[in-house]
Amino acid sequence: MKAPETAERGATAGSDARLTADIAEVQRLCGALGRRVQIMEVCGTHTVSIFRTGIRALLPANLRLISGPGCPVCVTAQRYIDAALELACRPNVTIATYGDMLRVPGRRGSLEQVRAGGADVRVVSSSMTAIDLAERLAPREVVFLGVGFETTAPATAAAVMLAERHELVNFSVLAAHKLVVPAMQALLSADAATRDPRTPRGIDGFLCPGHVSVIIGASAYEPIVREHRVPCVIAGFEPAQIWRGLAQLMRQIAGGEPRVENVYPAVVSEHGNRYAQGVLRRVFEVADAAWRELGVIPRSGLELAPRYQRFDAVRRFEITLGADEDHPACLCGQVIQGRVEPPECGLFGDGCTPLHPIGPCMVSSEGTCAAWYRYGARGAAATGRRS
Ligand code: SF4
Repeated sequence: MKAPETAERGATAGSDARLTADIAEVQRLCGALGRRVQIMEVCGTHTVSIFRTGIRALLPANLRLISGPGCPVCVTAQRYIDAALELACRPNVTIATYGDMLRVPGRRGSLEQVRAGGADVRVVSSSMTAIDLAERLAPREVVFLGVGFETTAPATAAAVMLAERHELVNFSVLAAHKLVVPAMQALLSADAATRDPRTPRGIDGFLCPGHVSVIIGASAYEPIVREHRVPCVIAGFEPAQIWRGLAQLMRQIAGGEPRVENVYPAVVSEHGNRYAQGVLRRVFEVADAAWRELGVIPRSGLELAPRYQRFDAVRRFEITLGADEDHPACLCGQVIQGRVEPPECGLFGDGCTPLHPIGPCMVSSEGTCAAWYRYGARGAAATGRRS
């Protein structure tokens, strides 16, 4: 039997060797392919990990990683922020929100700004904390901002079920949850519609989000492969896991045989978390949803099912979600589609910084502009516009 230290050294050497092999494989396959390859990650945690660990600096010149619409803050439409601001300014309303929504700009400023002006806006770490707030502050109204993808939506659904069980009449949700797969399909459809047949394709493969995949399962990406013939590989967030995902994607792209592949099997299963899916199905219905700068994507969001509509803040407060009026010079919409890099925005680093963000991609630490700003040249070595 090996001594523990020896076994540990052996395991480390093994994973180092695999990482080296994956990096070499990506470089070899890109070289052999001899054309530009573009892989989109659709997860803010992947985006930050890729920048933070300098993965881009090791990419072959013809491989470009595109940061897609994977940051929940970045994809939340301005009309939603405006509705939250309107509610926050009502005298009998407390807004409960995750912290990263505080500084997202709406037409009338941000939640942080209205809070400084006296509005009751509280940062909560979970939807259950919002329920506690509603119980403590009753009869004051507590509105929870339900944002994010399939990762956070089950927690919102669980809070609504608890509010029903506790017969809370002062709790509601301003729901803006999004579904990842319809957005990926919409990007591919837009690509197909606009692509010049003489140029290489826009998205050659997807590095699929680990957290969301825990809930929806690997099989949820099958329609993308079936309908668009684009490879999908689910990967974790450590550099070695990301390189493993890239190596598998490159093998599929080079081989011309797209499929769904899960290289994060320790936490992602074929069919996902059935219990969380059941909770989602019970509380929400799939609906068309407005994405910031991407417009309305069919069946890409969640709205409260009829049984739970009394917890819908839009209905309860009879508010109207108006049109979006994003800053005219902000290119966030193009950034989250990978059509431009953040430094191509005239406001990047000058008018728009993490301290004074103008667009949502600079607000969240998972936003693409914030990642570029923070990690600069180290993270952004491989660049180039997407066709
Ligand atoms: S730099 Fe700022 S204004 Fe420009 S795209 Fe990014 S977030 Fe929007």
